[in-house]
Amino acid sequence: MPDGAPSPGAPGAPSPGAAPIGHGIRFDKVSVAYRGLTVLDTLTLAIEPGEFVALIGPSGSGKTTALRAVAGFVRPASGRIRIGETDVTDLPPYARGIGMVVQNYALFPHMRVSDNVAFGLHAQGAPKDIIAGRVQESLRMVGMQAYLTRFPRELSGGQQQRVAIARALAIRPRVLLLDEPLSALDAQIRRNMVEELAKLHRDLAGLTVLYVTHDQTEALTLADRVAIMRDGRLCALGTSTDLYRRPPNRFTAEFLGRAN
Ligand code: ADP
Repeated sequence: MPDGAPSPGAPGAPSPGAAPIGHGIRFDKVSVAYRGLTVLDTLTLAIEPGEFVALIGPSGSGKTTALRAVAGFVRPASGRIRIGETDVTDLPPYARGIGMVVQNYALFPHMRVSDNVAFGLHAQGAPKDIIAGRVQESLRMVGMQAYLTRFPRELSGGQQQRVAIARALAIRPRVLLLDEPLSALDAQIRRNMVEELAKLHRDLAGLTVLYVTHDQTEALTLADRVAIMRDGRLCALGTSTDLYRRPPNRFTAEFLGRAN
């Protein structure tokens, strides 16, 4: 993304030292059940404004469910979720100020890149000139400003995922939710994208990111703190260094000791 990233002072690039633009995310004893089966069990977790937190854990441990609960796509059976000062538990997804990117990018195939990125802004009823500026700005952040008029099928997987990230950023979310955003990409592109995401988080100084991955290396490279889930519960939380040096329990030690 080197040529596309905003330099300080560019539109959309907060000046260094600016107050965090992101809001914290607070899970307060959040439980989610599917057909009577509890898959998220009294999750309590506070993510600070501007923090990058990775959720890792075995398949089926509830990571995606936790993310979808923040997004508003699943309703907790109990507990509350706050974004910043706002209790969003009963708010619809569009009112939560979140941007989200999922594994299979889910761009609209019949829409050009520009219209894909503009989608959330149209939904918000933003004026045309604002939309045009934001689309440019977001695509620049991911190095895709030259692809405005392309259709998704004319882009590589990595490029599509960049556009999906631009689309999530276009609404200037307070919180960016990423669910396995890189796992459909091949290894080399994934490594590049990890670096790009790290840079994006630095450039957007203060955007709060919750990142679900099964890839420990991604998590440990990117995240300020790592949360490890097991059977719907939070099993460990800390910086990667802390978790490696002083795993709080045997499961954490074994999980981190395992190769990906
Ligand atoms: P992870 O992201 O850690 O792999 P998930 O949050 O996707 O875990 O899933 C947690 C559990 O909830 C799994 O057992 C999964 O099968 C179940 N689950 C997820 N979504 C649904 C759904 N829509 N209906 C029924 N069960 C679901």
